[in-house]
Amino acid sequence: MRCRILRPTVCMKMSSSEPSFDVVIIGGGINGAGVAQAVAAAGYSVLLLEKSAIAAGTSSKSSKLIHGGLRYLENFDFKLVRESLKERELLLQLAPTLVKRLAFYIPLYQHSSRSPFKVATGLTVYRLLAGFHRKTGFRIVPRREWRNLDGLKQDGLKRVFQYWDAQTDDLALTMAVMRSAQQLGAQLHAPAEFLSAQALGDGYRISYRQSGFTRQIHATIVVNAAGPWAEAVAQRFKPDLPVISTENVQGAHIEIDFQISRGAYYLEAPTDQRAVFVIPWQGRTLIGTTETPYRGNPDDVHPLESEIAYLKSVFGHYFDNNDLTINAAWAGLRVLPAAETAAFTRSRESSIVADDDQHPHAITVLGGKITSYRVTAGKVLEICKQTLEKRIAIADTAKLKMET
Ligand SMILES: Cc1cc2nc3c(=O)[nH]c(=O)nc-3n(C[C@H](O)[C@H](O)[C@H](O)COP(=O)(O)OP(=O)(O)OC[C@H]3O[C@@H](n4cnc5c(N)ncnc54)[C@H](O)[C@@H]3O)c2cc1C
Repeated sequence: MRCRILRPTVCMKMSSSEPSFDVVIIGGGINGAGVAQAVAAAGYSVLLLEKSAIAAGTSSKSSKLIHGGLRYLENFDFKLVRESLKERELLLQLAPTLVKRLAFYIPLYQHSSRSPFKVATGLTVYRLLAGFHRKTGFRIVPRREWRNLDGLKQDGLKRVFQYWDAQTDDLALTMAVMRSAQQLGAQLHAPAEFLSAQALGDGYRISYRQSGFTRQIHATIVVNAAGPWAEAVAQRFKPDLPVISTENVQGAHIEIDFQISRGAYYLEAPTDQRAVFVIPWQGRTLIGTTETPYRGNPDDVHPLESEIAYLKSVFGHYFDNNDLTINAAWAGLRVLPAAETAAFTRSRESSIVADDDQHPHAITVLGGKITSYRVTAGKVLEICKQTLEKRIAIADTAKLKMET
C-alpha cells in the first residue's frame, strides 16, 4: 500500500506490521542529511539510519570551506565551480550563522610554479563564474601590507593576491541540515546500523540494529549515502547493488595553537605543488590537506606521521613561526572515481547510480562536496520521483533558513 497523503508520514503496510517509508537513507553525513531534507521537503516520508552520529564520517573532517574550488579551474571543471559558487552565495544567505565569508591570500614567490598572470586569470574566471557578485572581487595586496600577513615569509615574495570564499563548521552545518529535514517530518535513528536489504517487488525490506534490537522496515527506495562505507553497505544488499568504481583517498589536517588573524592562506606545497590551506579555526589554525590512497576499514582512518610532517613542513616553509604545537590531528576519506591519475586532478563531482533506469528502488550517492550538497540531493530526489507517486511539496530547500 502506498500512502496517499500530502504531509510526509509513516504508513503501515497492510501485509505486515513493519513501518514503511517512501525513502530510507543509510548514512548521516552531509549527503544523507541533504537527501533527507530534499525528500521531506518534496512531501515524502523518510527515515535516515546513522550507525554512529550525524557527521561522524567525512562530513566533520573536511577543510570546512564553502567554496567554488579555485584549483578545480586548472582541471577545466567550470560546471562544478560555477554550481558550487552559486551554492556558496545561497548558503551565505540561508545559514548566516554557519557559513561566513573569509578572505583568502595567495602568496607567489620566485619559486612558485604558478605565475601572477595565471593566478590573476584564474581569479578573474572565478569571479566571472560567481556572477560578479559585489563581494567576490580580488585584489593585489600592496607591499606595505605584507608585514601584517601573520608572519608570512617575505624572502623572494613577488606578489600576494587576496580573494573571497567562505567557511563553515561542517559538523554544525550537517546537523543543521538534518534538523531542518526533521522539522519537515524526516525521522532519524542514530545510532542505528543498517544490516541488510532484501529486494521485494515494491522496494526493500531493511534490517537494522538499534539499542541492541534488530528491527525491520520497508522502503520503496533505499539511498546508500554511506560515503567511504558505501561499498560495504552495497554488499549487504540482496541482490547486489550496481557498483561504482571508486577509491578512498585519505586527507589529513592538523590544528596548531598559533592563531592566524588575517584570513586563510592558499599555499603551494614546495615538494609536489599541491594546494595546502592554512585556515583560521576556532581561535587556532588548521593546516590541510593531504591525499593518500587508503584501502583499509574506513573506521580505522587516522593521520599518518608522514602526513603530519608534510603539513608541518609546508607551514614552516611559508611562515616565520616556530610555535608548531599540534593541538589535534585527524583524517577523513574522500571517495573519488577510480583512475590512474593523481587524486588531486580527479573530479569532485558526486557520483549517483540507480539500480534501474525507469523504476529505481536503490540509489547510491557518493563523494561530491559539502558546498554542493543541495545540488546532489536535488539530483537524488529527481531519481526517487521516477518511482514514487507524485506529492505536493511542503517546502523549497532553496528558501529554508538554517541556524546553529
Ligand atoms: C580531507 C577532506 C577535505 C574536504 N574539504 C572540503 C571542503 O573544504 N569543502 C567541501 O565542500 N567539501 C570538502 N570535502 C568533501 C566533503 O567533505 C565530502 O564529500 C562529504 O563530507 C561526503 O559526505 P558523505 O555524506 O557522502 O559521507 P560521510 O560524511 O562519510 O557520511 C557517511 C555516513 O554513513 C554512516 N554509515 C556507514 N555505514 C553505515 C551503516 N551500515 N549504517 C548506518 N550508517 C552508516 C557513517 O557513520 C557516516 O556518518 C572534503 C573531503 C575530505 C576528505
